[in-house]
Amino acid sequence: MDYPGAWPSPPATSPANRALALLRRRGASLAHRLLPRCCALCSLPLDDPAERRLGWCGSCAASLPGVDAPRCPVCAQRDPGGALLPRTAILAGPARGLPCQACRNAPPPYERTVALADYAPPLDRLILALKFGHAVSLAGPLGAALAARIDFPLDLVLPIPLSAQRLAERGFNQSWLIARAIAGAHGGAATRGKSPAHEAGVLTRVRHDPPQSLQPLRERAANLRGAFGCQRDLTGLRVALVDDVMTSGATFAEAARTARNAGAAFVATIVAARTPRS
Ligand SMILES: [Zn+2]
Ligand SMILES: [Zn+2]
Repeated sequence: MDYPGAWPSPPATSPANRALALLRRRGASLAHRLLPRCCALCSLPLDDPAERRLGWCGSCAASLPGVDAPRCPVCAQRDPGGALLPRTAILAGPARGLPCQACRNAPPPYERTVALADYAPPLDRLILALKFGHAVSLAGPLGAALAARIDFPLDLVLPIPLSAQRLAERGFNQSWLIARAIAGAHGGAATRGKSPAHEAGVLTRVRHDPPQSLQPLRERAANLRGAFGCQRDLTGLRVALVDDVMTSGATFAEAARTARNAGAAFVATIVAARTPRS
């Protein structure tokens, strides 16, 4: 129905509307066809539309390594109590649990870490497929699953940047894809319904380093000093730094220091997978 002052809309049967409706139907069916048909983790066929949207099957989701394990709220290492804290102390602590002994001895420059599961089979295969197999559609489900675990408000979600050389080699930054998905999905009650922004290019890689995985753990922190730059004022902002995997935490620590120097009031780190302590 047309109202005074409104633009007259074309009749529903007009050729323009019929073409639009056809395009919408085709678009929806194309989007459905583009969803994965097989579980990214076990390769079994996905029949459930919800599982197809997720990208992996329900039994794989439930069996991710350490997906429900208690983790240190600061560094996301599994079993934060371990031999050092009795289980009762964890249960008696804040709802999120107490920081692990390592975080209490030497608090890292970030307040919280959120991880989906351990970097172990089959989650490692999924991350390698995203990173090197160009299975970029996996970033969306990963980001949504991570966003569901974030119980604190955020203003800004920043991917850990690749160097210009590595970005050129790979063609995309998997961390940016995950960060974008997290920002899109985050916005529940804990965040007062407000979705954070996600921005590439705020944190920049100042120089090209050899891959961290090729360096001894002890040397990573020293090699990373001054590796990042920050291109905007973050004063008072609650910032999340996003990457696919956290191993020693050295990359996140240096990026968090850079964000803090730019004024960030709160820094969290968010990773798809956490490498367990060896
Ligand atoms: Zn599966
Ligand atoms: Zn910890």
